[in-house]
Amino acid sequence: MGSDCVRYLSTRDPRPQPRTLSFDEVLLAGLAADGGLYVPDHLPSLGEDTLRRHAGLPYAELAGRIMTLFAGDAFAADELRRMAAQAYSGFRHPAVTPLVQLDERLWLLELFHGPTLAFKDLALQLVGLLFDAALARRREHVTIIGATSGDTGSAALEACRDRDAIDIFVFYPHGRLSEVQRRQMTTVEAPNAHAIAIEGTFDDCQDLVKALFSDTQLRHSLNLAAVNSINWARIAAQTVYYFAAAAALGAPYRRISFSVPTGNFGNVYAGHIARRMGLPVERLVIGTNRNDILARYIANGEMTIAAVEPSLSPSMDIQVSSNFERLLFELKDRNGAAVDEAIASFRRTGALPRADAEWRAAQGLFSAHKVDDTATMRTIAETYARSGVLIDPHTAVAVGAARAALAVDGDAPMVALACAHPAKFPDAVERATRIRPALPEVLGDLFERRERLTVLPNDQAAVTRYIRGHARRSEESE
Ligand SMILES: *Cc1c(COP(=O)(O)O)cnc(C)c1O
Repeated sequence: MGSDCVRYLSTRDPRPQPRTLSFDEVLLAGLAADGGLYVPDHLPSLGEDTLRRHAGLPYAELAGRIMTLFAGDAFAADELRRMAAQAYSGFRHPAVTPLVQLDERLWLLELFHGPTLAFKDLALQLVGLLFDAALARRREHVTIIGATSGDTGSAALEACRDRDAIDIFVFYPHGRLSEVQRRQMTTVEAPNAHAIAIEGTFDDCQDLVKALFSDTQLRHSLNLAAVNSINWARIAAQTVYYFAAAAALGAPYRRISFSVPTGNFGNVYAGHIARRMGLPVERLVIGTNRNDILARYIANGEMTIAAVEPSLSPSMDIQVSSNFERLLFELKDRNGAAVDEAIASFRRTGALPRADAEWRAAQGLFSAHKVDDTATMRTIAETYARSGVLIDPHTAVAVGAARAALAVDGDAPMVALACAHPAKFPDAVERATRIRPALPEVLGDLFERRERLTVLPNDQAAVTRYIRGHARRSEESE
């Protein structure tokens, strides 16, 4: 592979020659020890010929090829192809991520045909297998911890359940999830999978994860790892459906636009990475709900934190979008010291230091629209009335933002990412359309399954005690 093998560095490494890691090292590490996020030292670039050859490829085959570009020497191409085939074999649609046309210029990209009915499965079903393979090879065990505002948690629990090399603990904000979301976590019956309700917000849960990671002793004794959306392997796996959808709609001959319901900035950032790799993307639209820090930033250059407000799209009830740090690294010309300083100041003051050149660059890369709860309900109702398609509130944010963007400019096909199945948020869908969406058959008994509920205070010591008490691996057993 030689010199174009991709290596990874931390967004906060201050050195002119940062230390670089391999794909499997960053896969297992998640967050960098300095608190930064891993990014590639360079991106693989795909020429027009390669993009042309994407047309008509089965999804798993395409996923194998794209992941190979990121994996360097860590996994062989046929190994990745095999894992991708296994990861996507459980999806309920043969296309894995089918497109549904809503009107002349607007498509839905259905990303909810995996086991937990949300797009997180696309990355996590594959990442679970990657973890397992990398650990088996090293004869290691990890304790995965993650924060979820709803969908990551169940997707991660499903991806890691019953795997010998993994214990997994997922924190979610107590009382802020839909019943389907909660049940999908609290009904996973596996000795290595733990869902924990934290008395706090999603941002509190994220802060807890970061705090646990910075406890060096805990980090080492339990071999902590992360699969939340900061893991680079997830970003890599999420670029695949951008390539797949674009190929189906005529790329590289046509430019394609995407509208993405955004919380932690992982999904839309993956679209940005696909574009950086050569995919002809016309426009990337960030859709936000009332928690609109990203829309405000794109509009006026101020990234100022506000209180998290519950909305109809709970998976996007986020004020601190972790993955934004990766874009910031790019906007700051890959200056890790400058990123470190800016993030520290954001943490301290609640506002990112203003930087107009960076803001203008971000405006050139993304447009953003806020779709509040009222507009979300209206979009669900209108979409059903016009096209007979039921969409969930997160998808409605994407569709609402897509329509706003289409009204402004561009005649490229617009793809709105349908990130959750309508039955995952049935109350809002029913209120908007008077139709209660049914769960897919495989999940029909979800409401009869027994729940195991664990509630902990938003307190690092209490959470640490719980994890030490329940992880199968501890110093004593080493
Ligand atoms: C996670 C999630 C989002 C937000 O995605 P990010 O990558 O965090 O921006 C949006 N909608 C649904 C349904 C989700 O599960």
